[in-house]
Formats: sequence, C-alpha cells, structure tokens
Amino acid sequence: MSTGGNAIRGSRIGAGPMGEADRGYKAERVTITYYCSNGHDHTLSYAASVEAEEIPEESFCPSCGIPAGQDKANPPVLAKHEPYKTHLAYVKERRTEEEAQTLLDEAVAAVREKRIAAAAAAAAAAANA
Ligand SMILES: [Zn+2]
Repeated sequence: MSTGGNAIRGSRIGAGPMGEADRGYKAERVTITYYCSNGHDHTLSYAASVEAEEIPEESFCPSCGIPAGQDKANPPVLAKHEPYKTHLAYVKERRTEEEAQTLLDEAVAAVREKRIAAAAAAAAAAANA
C-alpha cells in the first residue's frame, strides 16, 4: 500500500484549499508596521512577490484614522496641523466660488430644460389625445 500513500502525499503538495498550503505562504509575506502620531501601531502584510515600491509608505491607523508611517520616531504629523476636511472643503479648494456658481447654473439650466421639454411633450400628448 506504499503506492497509495505516495499518491495521497503527492496530491497534498501544493494543494491549495487544503489548509496547509496557506501556512506555507505565510513565510513568503512581508510584514510592515505602521506607526501613527498617537502612539498606535498596526501591521499589514504583503505578499513577498509585491514590489517594494508597491507597498504604501503610509497607511491609516485603524485605531484613530490618522495617517501612519513606517518610521516610529517620525510618524506623519499631518493630522496635528490639519483638521479633518469635509468633502465640501476639498471641493471648494479645487474650485473657485465663481466656477461653482457656473456649474450650479449649468446644472439648474439643464434641469429646467428637461422640465420644459417634458412639459411640452406632455402638452403635445394631451393635444393629440
Ligand atoms: Zn492611531
């Protein structure tokens, strides 16, 4: 029955969903620790096949949500100076008031046109009936 044993052993080598293969891959991972300026740290693991430049320099602290970097002595301090910005604040940063007004006017005009067209269509349908 030694051939049977070999057959079974052979099927287990590199067999994906059998559990053991997963443990084997763990050795081929790189673990990066990120530190935030509030003293938290967390680790992320990446497949060893991932290029070094694909590993992000910074992550976000899962405890407090601020950016976390790989240098414990020098965590990103962005959050200390800059409070959270709302989405609107970012939008305002990218667009001037004037541009925003133009966009708004265009949007309103488009809606108005649609409504007028719909009303006209409805009137025409009513006239034809
Ligand atoms: Zn934190």
